[in-house]
Amino acid sequence: MTDQKMLTVNVVTPDGSVYEKQTPFVIFKTTLGELGVLPDHIPFLASLAIDEVRVKQSKTDDKFDEIAVGGGFVEFSNNLATVVANSAERKENIDAARAARARKRAEERLEKAKQAHDTDQVKRAEVSLRRAINRLNIAGH
Ligand code: ATP
Repeated sequence: MTDQKMLTVNVVTPDGSVYEKQTPFVIFKTTLGELGVLPDHIPFLASLAIDEVRVKQSKTDDKFDEIAVGGGFVEFSNNLATVVANSAERKENIDAARAARARKRAEERLEKAKQAHDTDQVKRAEVSLRRAINRLNIAGH
């Protein structure tokens, strides 16, 4: 069997590099839609949605590492995908109870901000809510 090429995914956050892996295939959820990337893909820069990055674990099975990202961007060139994310957690490291508390707080903030017609606070609360729901969705898979 010929040796299949791999690419490297490196996820960086303000806390430093939180994930690095060699993979034959990775799926990004960009703000323009889903983007599946194989080795030797052309270079690109894309902004990431508050969603997940799915990294195929190996050539031989169909399991994926699932990483929750709180938005950011991904740059790909020379078979290196560098994800610069506001926050990132592997599915296994997500504290679902914490995310549920964060969701409740964000819902309460959103309600108050709407009543006060505070559009900036509404936007902030909506982003916090999306982050919390994203973590809960990924933790619950
Ligand atoms: P919280 O209100 O619970 O802190 P948050 O959305 O404000 O949630 P962030 O500012 O996005 O949190 O992230 C702060 C740090 O905490 C980051 O390092 C992030 O990876 C981590 N983090 C946040 N929520 C969780 C969670 N539910 N499980 C694991 N790590 C989390």
